[in-house]
Amino acid sequence: MVLPLMDISGQPAVLGHLQRVLAGDRMASTWIFAGPEGVGKFTTATALAAVKLCEHPKQSSNADGPRVRLPGLDPQFSLLEACGQCASCRAIRAGSHPDLHLVHRRLVRLYDKSGKSKATTLSIQVIRSEITGDASPDNRVESKLYTRSKLGRGKWFIIDEADLMQVEAQNALLKALEEPPPGTYLVLISASPSDLLSTIRSRAQIVPFQSLPLDALGRALMARGLTETQARQLARISNGSLGRAMQWLSASSNEAQANDEKPASAKSRAKKSANSPAEPDATGEPPPVFNWINQICTMMDKIAQHQAGGMNMADLLARCADQFAGIGLKRDSLASRDRLVRDGVMTMLGIIGEWLDDQLRLATGTRPTAPLPTRLTGLPAEMIQHCLEICQTAQRQVDQNAHVNLLLASTGTAIEGALRAH
Ligand SMILES: [Zn+2]
Repeated sequence: MVLPLMDISGQPAVLGHLQRVLAGDRMASTWIFAGPEGVGKFTTATALAAVKLCEHPKQSSNADGPRVRLPGLDPQFSLLEACGQCASCRAIRAGSHPDLHLVHRRLVRLYDKSGKSKATTLSIQVIRSEITGDASPDNRVESKLYTRSKLGRGKWFIIDEADLMQVEAQNALLKALEEPPPGTYLVLISASPSDLLSTIRSRAQIVPFQSLPLDALGRALMARGLTETQARQLARISNGSLGRAMQWLSASSNEAQANDEKPASAKSRAKKSANSPAEPDATGEPPPVFNWINQICTMMDKIAQHQAGGMNMADLLARCADQFAGIGLKRDSLASRDRLVRDGVMTMLGIIGEWLDDQLRLATGTRPTAPLPTRLTGLPAEMIQHCLEICQTAQRQVDQNAHVNLLLASTGTAIEGALRAH
């Protein structure tokens, strides 16, 4: 599905930039859409390609329809949009446009003859096969970059997670960027543009995307069927990333459990995936992300009130992170389990961080930004600060590849100790 450009929420500066670009007649041939994961970079790239490939693009105003679509922009703001009806728009919707090439790491599977690749990088085979071609006599591959546009309105290559390109793949691409054929556009999507060769960066127009503000993310989640409380809770812990929040929502708790026990049947999986994300699954359970928030906040409440009994923070965090990784593997069987567990630990530590942030606000007399299921504990501000520091140190160590179980054990002990000491 291609979202209209005007429906990209939380990126007014990007849309302002694209407005100027689309209104002029000169357009950069190589772009880097840079910014955190899950804030709309890929969606915007596809929407931009759709406008340029469309046969009858039309001006669309921010004030079209019953209300202003993007509160961050002037109601008079207008932007060129794809018509949604021409042959090109229909082909994009069907995923079969001959001039729109989406390049992503899962394609490694197509070109890795050994079948062993974990697809954690974008190999040179992918870049050659999907973009540049290969002129070597024993392995000739036609270049998609230099063939003519099939529908005559230019060609687009969108490379997702472009920073995962191996150096030789980046070098192969660099040669192509030096003299791109007219009417050919490349968009490199990256959450980590510093991992791209500086020679690539210097040839590209860099468009910075921001984390989504809390209220924009909350609105986007409510538009997808969440209650206001759910939307605001989820917005808080997803670091301004709609993509991340949607990934958590698209997994039912059943699937997470099935991963630990036995595989769900194809039929029951199909039934579950038909549910809208925010709806409880067949068991009446909300998506597991709300269980993580509830369980972790409840645990923190109890520890702070000396009612935790035999509760073990490290165990709970490890269990939640494991469930998180299980869901991730269901979604992308090529993903690295270790990376997912680390991501899960970061998420759970993030929930603790938000709980502490609420306590700090309560201690200093400011209102929490969104209602987490926490109670007033009357903890002293200094001690909360100390716990926040422990939490942040732990998050840095997860990033630096520390041993996850040892880290959780020491972090849990340190935070529990501090909370119990008061
Ligand atoms: Zn169209």
